Amino acid sequence: MKYYSLNRQAPMVSYRTAVINGIAPDGGLYYPEELPILPRAFIRELDRYSPLEIGIQAMTPFVQKDIPKNELESILEKVLDFDFPLVPIEAQIETLELFHGPTMAFKDVGARFMALSLGYFNRNEENEITVLVATSGDTGGAVANGFLGVQGVNVVILYPDGKVSDIQEKQLTTLGQNIRALRVKGTFDDCQRMVKKAFADKSLKGSVQLTSANSINVARWLPQMLYYLLAYHQKKKPVGELVFSVPSGNFGNICAGMVAKKMGLPISHFIAATNVNDTVPRFMKTSEYDPHPSTATISNAMDVGDPSNFVRILELHNNDFKSLKENLSSYSFTDKETKVAMKKIYSKSKYIADPHGAVGYLGLQKYRETHPDCEGIFLETAHPVKFLDVVTETLHTDITLPPQIEKIMNKKKVSIPISTYEELREFLLK
Ligand SMILES: *Cc1c(COP(=O)(O)O)cnc(C)c1O
Repeated sequence: MKYYSLNRQAPMVSYRTAVINGIAPDGGLYYPEELPILPRAFIRELDRYSPLEIGIQAMTPFVQKDIPKNELESILEKVLDFDFPLVPIEAQIETLELFHGPTMAFKDVGARFMALSLGYFNRNEENEITVLVATSGDTGGAVANGFLGVQGVNVVILYPDGKVSDIQEKQLTTLGQNIRALRVKGTFDDCQRMVKKAFADKSLKGSVQLTSANSINVARWLPQMLYYLLAYHQKKKPVGELVFSVPSGNFGNICAGMVAKKMGLPISHFIAATNVNDTVPRFMKTSEYDPHPSTATISNAMDVGDPSNFVRILELHNNDFKSLKENLSSYSFTDKETKVAMKKIYSKSKYIADPHGAVGYLGLQKYRETHPDCEGIFLETAHPVKFLDVVTETLHTDITLPPQIEKIMNKKKVSIPISTYEELREFLLK
């Protein structure tokens, strides 16, 4: 498979180069040259295949020539080593729980797939690659965990001191091995600025090979299509009109779902549910793309004002607003509505949803007002324990710590304090 830049001013590249580059030299996102169609019989009998077999069938065309089959199999075995259960909530509504991975956020799948791809490409290189990431909380944990123990790759994480939750800080700072955490005196934006500066710093080139691990990387984006296939794999047949509601921030997850549909998965409609950061819901009303700066909410992993993957969604619909509108509805919800939904789901179904999942639920309910016959699945993208304060305060109930979190609570946090770019630079050169 070859990948082209959506800015169309850079050469087509292999999977390998797309993963290593992250972003094309012209600043565009990489996009696959074609979307392969899965065999009809395979889709029809999806329930008979194992998650690993489904992963291999779906991902092979995207990595072919760069990752041999046995290697892809061993990568996917590690990526898919936890469950993605479909849990009934109410009549015609289920949730797909994507939070059973090591850091309990759905980003575990993409982060691990990218880490193992990169580790494979760098296996015989003398020089190590350094993955540099700034995090406001969740991404850093998933990336760090994905890369833990991967040979030839070092990870350096920058996070704002005192501005991530205790659990998140534990996830970033207790891993050891090839993962190092720098706590920055400042905000997330300061961390982000330092990372950008390092990528542009010519004096680092030659001494350190830096790479980013954010969600625009094709290796983090594409494997997310597996969630949709694995949901369908668990459905009791026959399935009528099937819709997915996806809590969306950078729109990578929902876009991967749309890829799965293009490849033949029978999904009738997508709902992009957002918090008050409503650039896409406004676009779907007006067809005018007018990004706003982001606003802080209780579903903070979706506090994105200018979603980076939206250009991929437009490409997938040939930049045709009408066909996009047939495939996608998008609604935004306030924190107040989100909390009311959390309470309703809890009292009606005894299910504890985290704020992101609750936004997904609201999107589905809204769509069902005009499409009462559809069967809906909303994605639960994080375990409620990751948003402990909001959840306990809203639902007045305790959450038992899952083993992944329990395990790290007594570990000692290790991080290095920095406050200037110079300090980061020195650290990278050491
Ligand atoms: C990252 C994240 C999202 C948003 O996913 P996108 O692919 O960026 O749209 C939603 N929920 C949680 C918990 C996340 O961590």
